[in-house]
Amino acid sequence: MRQSRLFTKTRREAPADEVSKNAILLTRAGFINKEMAGVYSYLPLGWRVIQNLKRVIAEEMEKLGSREILMSTLQNKGVWEKTDRWDDERVDVWFKSKLKNDTEIGFGWSHEEPIAEMMKSHVKSYNDLPVSVHQFQNKLRNEVRAKSGIMRCREFIMKDMYFFAETEAENLSFYESAIAAYSKVFDRVGLGNITYVTSASGGMFTDKFSHEFQTLCDAGEDYIYVNTERRLALNEEVWNEKTVSELGLKESDFEKKSAVEVGNIFNFGTKKSEDLGLIIQNQSGEKQSVHLSSYGIGVSRLMGTIVEVLSDEKGMIWPKEVAPFRVHLIFLGHDGVLKELADKIYNAMLSENIEVLYDDRDLRAGEKFADADLIGIPTRVVIGGKTVESKMLEVKDRGSDDVLMMTLEHLIEKLNSSTSFDKVQDKSLGTRSY
Ligand code: ATP
Ligand code: MG
Repeated sequence: MRQSRLFTKTRREAPADEVSKNAILLTRAGFINKEMAGVYSYLPLGWRVIQNLKRVIAEEMEKLGSREILMSTLQNKGVWEKTDRWDDERVDVWFKSKLKNDTEIGFGWSHEEPIAEMMKSHVKSYNDLPVSVHQFQNKLRNEVRAKSGIMRCREFIMKDMYFFAETEAENLSFYESAIAAYSKVFDRVGLGNITYVTSASGGMFTDKFSHEFQTLCDAGEDYIYVNTERRLALNEEVWNEKTVSELGLKESDFEKKSAVEVGNIFNFGTKKSEDLGLIIQNQSGEKQSVHLSSYGIGVSRLMGTIVEVLSDEKGMIWPKEVAPFRVHLIFLGHDGVLKELADKIYNAMLSENIEVLYDDRDLRAGEKFADADLIGIPTRVVIGGKTVESKMLEVKDRGSDDVLMMTLEHLIEKLNSSTSFDKVQDKSLGTRSY
C-alpha cells in the first residue's frame, strides 16, 4: 500500500480523552477511531492487525477440527429465559431493545444459549457428535467501566468456539487440546512468554470448571500470582494456602502481578444442554444431554494487550505475524531518478508477495521516521541518496538500533526465511544489483 493513499493521519499529540496507552498509541497512529466511550472503529492499519489475529486464531481452531460460522447479533429472549439468563438481575451487561410490536430482543453479549439452541436442529444422535464451531463476532456488553481503550469495550470482537460431545471424556480431551491450541495462538502473536493459563473456578474433577489465559500487563484489571520458574499462575479466586501447598509450593514462591484476561474457557458439563433440551440418542440407545464446553478469545482486547506490552517511547512494535505490514519502505528526498528506483523496489517486493507499506509521501526524513516508529512495522527499509551508488538498502528492525546494508535480493531472501536480521553476520553480503 502506498502511504500517500492511506487516508488516515498520524498525530504527535495524545488525544485529550484517552488515558490508556493502547488507545493513545493506536489513535495517534491512525489504527482506530473512537466513536464514544468503549466503542471504537478499526481503520485500515488497525483492521489489518485484526485480520491477522483472526487468521492465526482461525488456523489453530481449524487444526482442532472446528468449523467457522457466524451467528446473529440480535438474539431471542425466549432462548435466554430457558437458562434464566435474560433477567438483568442475572446478567448485568445486557443491551436490550423493544420491537414495534412491544416484544423484546437482546443484543448478543455471548452466544452459548443461541448456539446450543441452533444445534438442536442438527445434532440428534451420537453419530452427529462430536462437533465444534467457532466464529468471530462483535459482542455487545453494557460495561460500567470502559477506560482501558480497546481492552474493555461496549462493542468488541470476540472469537468464540463451542464443542459438543456425547461423553465427558471426549469433552475433557478436547478441552486439553484447546488449551494447547490457545498457547500456540499466544506464542504466535508474540505473547507466549508472558501469558499464563490459570485455573479460574472449580477443579478438573467437578462437572463445571473454567480456565483463564492471563497476560502479564501493568494495565490489566486482574491480579494473578505467578511462579515464573515453574511457569505456574493462580488467579485471585483460587489463591490460598491450600492450593499453593497442593502444588508443593509456599505462598512466598509466588509474586502478585497485574494481568489482563485474553482468553477464557469453560466446561459446562451437561447443564446447559439440560436447560435447553439439547438431547441426543447415545450409543446405548438412550436419551442423554450433550456435553458442552466453550472457548473465548478477546480478539480486539488481544490487539490492545500487544500494544500495551510491546511498545516503547516512540510507538508500537508489532510481532511479525500480526503486524499490519511486514516491511515499511521509506523513500527519502525529492530526486526523480531515486523515486523511480524506489517505485521499482516497491513493485519488486509486491511481486514477491511481501506485504509492504511504501512511504512515498513528500515529507521530511524526520517526520517519516517518527511515523514509522509510531506505526511499528517490524522491518524498515530506507531508500536514500546512498542507495543509487552502493546498490544497497538500509535495513533496520523496529526495536533494534542496528542498521544493516543489504541488496534487495538478500533482503527478500531474509524476509522469506524466518531468520532475524540480527543474525546476519556479513553486512556486505550479496553485491549483485537489484
Ligand atoms: P472480563 O472478566 O475481563 O470482564 P469475561 O470473563 O466477562 O471478561 P468472557 O465472557 O469469558 O469474558 O469473554 C471471553 C473473552 O472476551 C475474555 O477472555 C476477554 O478476552 C474478552 N472480553 C470480555 N469482555 C470484554 C470487553 N468488554 N472488551 C473487550 N474484550 C472483552
Ligand atoms: Mg472471564
